[in-house]
Amino acid sequence: MDYYGSQITKLIEELSSLPGIGAKSAQRLAFHVINMPEESVEKLANSLVEARRNVHYCKECFTLTDGDVCPICASSARNHRTIMVVETTRDLAAYEKTGKYEGVYHVLHGAISPMLGIGPGDIKLKELIKRLQGDVDEVIVATNNSLEGETTAMYISKLIKPTGIKVSRIASGVPVGGDLEYIDEVTLLRALEGRVEL
Ligand code: ZN
Repeated sequence: MDYYGSQITKLIEELSSLPGIGAKSAQRLAFHVINMPEESVEKLANSLVEARRNVHYCKECFTLTDGDVCPICASSARNHRTIMVVETTRDLAAYEKTGKYEGVYHVLHGAISPMLGIGPGDIKLKELIKRLQGDVDEVIVATNNSLEGETTAMYISKLIKPTGIKVSRIASGVPVGGDLEYIDEVTLLRALEGRVEL
């Protein structure tokens, strides 16, 4: 039965379609929104639409940005000869939070998974290889410590080895199957400093 009237029900439905929002949270958010000043709701709605409309991949590293290239790729303070390969933009954010990594990134947007039918052509690997034609000293593979992450790391190392560019893998201080974004900064830094050549 629709006790709220269709508009509220629709809002709750829309909210509960978001990841991590269950029925109860959706209901709480919906009532929160309804009690917000109309101006604030408009601001929120606009920022959702604007972000969706204007955010795209950086043409260098494929992270999400609203510019042509992201601020990291555009920065002359970064070492553009060291590229850290990560699975997602959230992993990039986790490393950026440590504030200690000075190189640039490459975001794959996934990992190779034969089980899920995700092959090398389905992630941004070609784009990585293309970048290696420039001046690159080292590629640090920081894919997750899961089966897919390891498979991807091995694949990348095989591709890069013949080019003579150094390839390293972050140390396994990171728990198996652990998503990089949930790991604390100290562990991330230790994994980065303890990286081993592949
Ligand atoms: Zn970039």
